[in-house]
Amino acid sequence: MGLVSINIKTGSVDKSDEVVVGIDLGTTNSLVAFMENGRPKAITGEDGKHTLVPSIIHFDEHYGIVVGDQARKKLVADPTNTIYSVKRLMGKSYNDVADRNGFFGYKIIDDDTESLVKIRVQDRYYTPVELSAAILGELKKRAEKALGKKVEKAVVTVPAYFNDAQRQATRDAGKLAGLDVLRIVNEPTAASLAYGIDAEGYDKQVIAVYDLGGGTFDISILQIEDGIFEVLATNGNTFLGGDDFDHAIVEHWLATELRDVDMADAATVQSIRIAAENAKKQLTTSETFETDIAGRKIQLTRSNFNSLIARLVGQTIDCCKNALADAKIGADQIDHIVMVGGSTRVPLVKELVRQFFGKDLHDNLDPDEVVALGAAVQADILAGNQKDILLIDVTPLSLGIETVGGLMDVLIPRNSKIPFSAGRQYTTSVDGQKNLKIAVFQGERDLVEHNRKLGEFVLKGIPPMPAGLPKIDIRFMLNADGILKVKAGELRSGTEQEIEIKPSYGISEDDMALMLIQSIQNAQNDLQTRALIEARNEANIIILSADKFISQNGEILSNEEIEQIRKLVGKLSEAVSGQDKDLINSSMEELNTYTTPLAHRAMDFNIGKAIKGTVV
Ligand code: ADP
Ligand code: MG
Repeated sequence: MGLVSINIKTGSVDKSDEVVVGIDLGTTNSLVAFMENGRPKAITGEDGKHTLVPSIIHFDEHYGIVVGDQARKKLVADPTNTIYSVKRLMGKSYNDVADRNGFFGYKIIDDDTESLVKIRVQDRYYTPVELSAAILGELKKRAEKALGKKVEKAVVTVPAYFNDAQRQATRDAGKLAGLDVLRIVNEPTAASLAYGIDAEGYDKQVIAVYDLGGGTFDISILQIEDGIFEVLATNGNTFLGGDDFDHAIVEHWLATELRDVDMADAATVQSIRIAAENAKKQLTTSETFETDIAGRKIQLTRSNFNSLIARLVGQTIDCCKNALADAKIGADQIDHIVMVGGSTRVPLVKELVRQFFGKDLHDNLDPDEVVALGAAVQADILAGNQKDILLIDVTPLSLGIETVGGLMDVLIPRNSKIPFSAGRQYTTSVDGQKNLKIAVFQGERDLVEHNRKLGEFVLKGIPPMPAGLPKIDIRFMLNADGILKVKAGELRSGTEQEIEIKPSYGISEDDMALMLIQSIQNAQNDLQTRALIEARNEANIIILSADKFISQNGEILSNEEIEQIRKLVGKLSEAVSGQDKDLINSSMEELNTYTTPLAHRAMDFNIGKAIKGTVV
């Protein structure tokens, strides 16, 4: 297989025969899609019809699992062993979900409130990452069966508002399922791609993606320019979706036709719920619905249904208003409205959204599939099959420079939107230093030796000044093409130097993923190393100034005092050459405590001398 090289501008890699699939890992349903003859296509199960895999996992008494439709059937009969809505728990601590614990029919566990949630199934504990991996594994299997070959690479989508922990959890789930997640893509970005909105041949475009799923609502305002998607604003409600429409119907029937039905009977309750969802779906295409429940004939018309859900749909429109306000954009400035999620099939939803934005909707693709289809388009771009589409929205790895002791100082954090510019001021560490070497690195580790060196240059001609006095400004500018310019200048003298580098050139997504994984695995170690190096740096400065102090204040210090300072300096120097940061810190403390009163005395003496000087 060897290494693949990705050009950061085109996102293209050298071509091979391997497939990269696109996966929508949803709260309610998940699915997998791939590119066939230049068009994205969702992969069906064995029946050849259904593309959706319910995001539900059922455990039997031996901890054997089934995923999807089979698991969905157990939801009512065996709720404690049937896990759904795992996506809501990704990257969350128990604190984050404590107030919603009642929402889940299964057990959510914490060891301590800071740690990530686990789910208890009988006597075992599962993390959301493991459970998501089970769903991804099912999709992988499905894709392999349909395509007749191994599937090992995927693009996986997440909501635009997912934070770093949630994205990382999704990536980890992929790894666990044996999938190399080449990229995590925002769901609204994927949906826009599925509709071919990639600003090819357009000027800047503003897109509203309205996503109403089973249990969640998301509105995202995106801007695309030169192939770069930027999220301007997101809003929504994590507990509002099609399930609430079903619920509204159930409540309505219980208050009318089914007023005297026996609600203690689980089978009846279940059949009412199923009838409600059927009614909702049927009313998408017809004006009336009729069925029998518990020997009673019940019905619902589209206009009944509309009045039941009007308030809920109104809430989604309020979210749209908030998102526009956050993006500082008027509804009339939106160029495209993309409809996503099974619940956008409801005619009232379409009508109210169209009315609000005053524009036609992109709704001719299957709203359940559109995110996965877009992920497949992105996957195809990454596989190098579409040479001309530029698709970079964020920098995949942090960019920074080496500072004293080999520490990485990050100027542009990973996942920053590009273009991006950042600057910071540094100084020299040696008196009279004329040159400063600036080495640029890419990666997440605390020590530059573990990161990837992109280039280095020397800022020459710094006028001689005592250490710490020069003001050296280092500026990183990452442009839309992913090209990094580094500029360094000494502000007092006006000396300047500049270089240009291509950060990701020659680095594969595999390497990037590896670097990220290593940075997470080594985070604890790195933190300790960083603390040690910082303590050493500080100690070295103190040792230097103690030496200076002795040579400048010989006349006011007794021999014993000088000896004691030397002894403490010796002890500190020894600590600096060791590995124990606590010993360095305590030796520093000891030296400081001893010299502070001496420094005060020296200061008084020197001031006294200065005053005498003026009198004479
Ligand atoms: P998620 O993104 O949360 O995984 P989906 O986008 O798959 O969810 O949407 C699932 C929701 O779409 C369910 O509430 C389902 O009842 C609803 N839905 C599916 N088909 C229709 C239809 N024809 N009319 C109305 N609602 C539908
Ligand atoms: Mg969805």
